[in-house]
Amino acid sequence: MFSSKTAIVTGGSRGIGRAIVQALARTGARVVFTYLQNKSAADEITNNDTIIGLPVDVTRFDQAKELVKQVKERFGRIDILVNNAGITRDKLIALMSEKDWDDVLNTNLKGVFNLTKPVIGVMLRQRSGSILNITSISGIMGMAGQVNYSSSKAGMIGFTKALAKEVAKLNITVNAVALGFIETDMTATLNSEYRNKALEQIPLGRFGKPEEVAEIALFLLSPQASYITGQVIQVDGGLAI
Ligand code: NDP
Repeated sequence: MFSSKTAIVTGGSRGIGRAIVQALARTGARVVFTYLQNKSAADEITNNDTIIGLPVDVTRFDQAKELVKQVKERFGRIDILVNNAGITRDKLIALMSEKDWDDVLNTNLKGVFNLTKPVIGVMLRQRSGSILNITSISGIMGMAGQVNYSSSKAGMIGFTKALAKEVAKLNITVNAVALGFIETDMTATLNSEYRNKALEQIPLGRFGKPEEVAEIALFLLSPQASYITGQVIQVDGGLAI
């Protein structure tokens, strides 16, 4: 499905990003993914041929720009960008520090700008491309203890819709998936009481798997979805119904 396509996936060393990297590579794409510090996790999936992992901090515009330049030089084009890297620093606002706010906004929202801006330059010249932003139902419903995270994820939704309108005429699609609870390191830290309460509210009665998100990502990035842009698809087991 993606043979001769080149993809960049942020935060590909673990969790949802890793599942998307592997799904894209399995279907023929050359994938360059970023990670922050977890080299051993990145090395597990890097093969230096179709899957390449690089330590690029998405909060740093200079690093993002350099990455895009290198990928373009090596592969000649960039067809797919998946803005997946994200963090949580959950606290009630009364206890939230300015750093908790800045770290989450800088990674989850500014990181999306930092990668998308240089990638869009390449895609505009190609007159083609697909961008997928990994957001959260926290950005749609709001979650107590997550004013930083909910704000960043709501921001990603606005970003998705505005950019979709800007670049549609040049055959570039921009979509988002808004995820509910997915089994990754990010949700592994939830205590059992919180987890059980969450499960009670999920109509499908379970957390999702990264591979289930990857399947939707493949579809939204594929030619089969060429007439879909500016959309936010909820992948949440029905949680936000
Ligand atoms: P994980 O915590 O499992 O993985 C996060 C990934 O992001 C890692 O690869 C990490 O790299 C990378 N990363 C973090 N900060 C940076 C940075 N500054 N620069 C580059 N890479 C970075 O997260 P998930 O797989 O659970 O989440 C992926 C996305 O899905 C996030 O945007 C998250 O908000 C979203 N999401 C997840 C949900 C869930 O239930 N899991 C629900 C809703 C949305 P390293 O390994 O080096 O630390």
